[in-house]
Amino acid sequence: MRYAETGYNLEIDLTRGNIERVATDPKDTELYLGGLGTNAKIMWDRVPPEVEAFSPDNLLIFAAGLLCGTPATGCNRTIVTTISPQTRLLAFSMMGGFWAPELKYAGYDKVILRGKSPDLVYLWIKDDKVEIRDATHLRGKGAVETAKLICQELKEPRAQVAAIGMAGENRVYFASIEQGRSSASRGGIGAVMGDKGVKAVVVRGTKDIHLARPAEYMQLCNEAMEYIKFRNANPIPGVMPILAGLGSPQEMKVHDEKWHTENFMWGNSRERRKGFWTEEIAREWMQTMEDMRTRLISCYNCPMTCGATICPTGKSTYMMKCFTKLTYTMAAFSDLEFGLGIAQSATEYGVDGFSAPQVMAFALELLENGILKEDDFPGMPEDNEGRFYWLLDRIVRREGIGDVLANGTYWAAKAIGKGADAYAHNNIKKTEQLPLKLSMLNPIYFLMYCTGEKINITQIEGQFPQAPYPKREHREAFVKDWFQVPDEKFKQYFLDWEPRGENSIPYYPTPEMCCDIVDWQERMHYIDDALGMCAGLSSFPLKPPYHIHNYPKFISAGAGYEMDEESLTRAARRYRTLVRAINTRRGLRRKDEKPPADHWKKRFPELEQQLLDTYYTFKGWNTQGIPTEETLRDLGLDYVYDEFEKRGIYSDNGDTASLSTPAETDKEV
Ligand code: SF4
Repeated sequence: MRYAETGYNLEIDLTRGNIERVATDPKDTELYLGGLGTNAKIMWDRVPPEVEAFSPDNLLIFAAGLLCGTPATGCNRTIVTTISPQTRLLAFSMMGGFWAPELKYAGYDKVILRGKSPDLVYLWIKDDKVEIRDATHLRGKGAVETAKLICQELKEPRAQVAAIGMAGENRVYFASIEQGRSSASRGGIGAVMGDKGVKAVVVRGTKDIHLARPAEYMQLCNEAMEYIKFRNANPIPGVMPILAGLGSPQEMKVHDEKWHTENFMWGNSRERRKGFWTEEIAREWMQTMEDMRTRLISCYNCPMTCGATICPTGKSTYMMKCFTKLTYTMAAFSDLEFGLGIAQSATEYGVDGFSAPQVMAFALELLENGILKEDDFPGMPEDNEGRFYWLLDRIVRREGIGDVLANGTYWAAKAIGKGADAYAHNNIKKTEQLPLKLSMLNPIYFLMYCTGEKINITQIEGQFPQAPYPKREHREAFVKDWFQVPDEKFKQYFLDWEPRGENSIPYYPTPEMCCDIVDWQERMHYIDDALGMCAGLSSFPLKPPYHIHNYPKFISAGAGYEMDEESLTRAARRYRTLVRAINTRRGLRRKDEKPPADHWKKRFPELEQQLLDTYYTFKGWNTQGIPTEETLRDLGLDYVYDEFEKRGIYSDNGDTASLSTPAETDKEV
């Protein structure tokens, strides 16, 4: 008997129309857990670096995390893994909502898609019955609209639908997969789904999940729930509201946006808007939110209500999450009414709310600076808001200049030439757009930005506070009930962190301390991504209910794989290293591991190199960021070492473009 997991994957060959139910090896779960961990193993084994994003041999894997579908509060993440058309590296975007538990209840841990369907189709999974169905009548439909139409067509109002909009169908490099109350957005995974000819994956399950030791597991779940109630009633004092409690950033509840709107450079802007947040704006935005927000909502089995249904005037209702509230608004220098309105169109089209406004602002900056001409924008309205709507429409249809912009700022700049690359100034890992710029260099953020491979904003934040508290007595109060730390030394790091003087940013925390902190933060994100836990209850907030001390108990009592902190840490390190190995094999090298040049006002080149050197050594990677032989053998990844040797990877510093490493070639996929 398998516990927590079902022990079966669905393998679907879209070219042949073949569907198989395949038993999985429990040994793989023990080594790599589930979700991202086993996805990475499959991608390593079956998708060599010669396979491009839009090749039929690329896989698109929808995985439910190991503990999804169990009673653990907030454990509902679907991890979608593929090769990204944008970065040519591994994309492993996540979505909340209801889809992953439903897949478990249907009897599967993953849906693995390969090949390409000759016509547009959707997949209908209802317990043991799995069908590939015609979706040609859904071509061009919005992602949310598609979900509604399919549920009506199947007469299955409780089916969960992960769908793409027009952007995915047209292979826009920042197309998302939308799903009820969430979306998987980074890396253009929706474009891969569109390329495979799949409009939606629809699931309804009615089976049970088994637990290894149910009474013990329920006790753990109850403890986590009690803690959630306690934290909700007792926000952490001294930090901004979205960090004081739990959940994904509570952007749908927070009205005071002074800090976010004034302290970041949004979209393609090169300025902060000091003085933006006036009393009048505060009043207007609050009114807009109150008028358009119809309901606060949660994902499966969670009381946190982080999302909201939004009904903009004259448009249909959609679900808004996280920072999309601000990305369009700020990139267009407009107001919240515009931001909430255009986000509805963007959700139906299915585009990433971070990249899309960035790309549109980039296009307008090129126009302002004479690199693109008025002729490139025939019929574009004069006003900023109108221009954003016009551009969004052209991009998702790949019409005119929209066809170039649909590949994101990096590839668009290459195609446009004439110095356009100077305006693609907010990219990370060379090709993926960031939604904003920060101010003072924070060494912890520097490392998370440089070396993180998910390229998601919540992935660069974690359980260590983002800034020091002004007074020591406040810091002492903070560490008193900080039981989540993996080691007491983190308390001392924080106690000694001062806003000014010797122990302040950027030289404190020291590079060695930063390695410990970043490694802790990253470890928790990777564990969440394998278990299917929402980062908002574990790796993202400051004092969460799930942490390194109780996770091994959840895995042991839930899935029946006996784990302690050490073995869990080791498993997470194993698949984190495997993710790095996949990207190393695809050409990722040290030169790609840097934030945008003007991401911070002031840079510290020597310190930054020292940070990177120290962190690479800490992780057991060489000076190019490649896992060493010793590291790989220690983790039982001998097969990775053998492949690296065979391909001459240790002698490749990434200076020479190689046809065998798509991330290094500049041709479009
Ligand atoms: S904390 Fe928020 S985002 Fe996370 S599962 Fe709960 S409702 Fe969803």
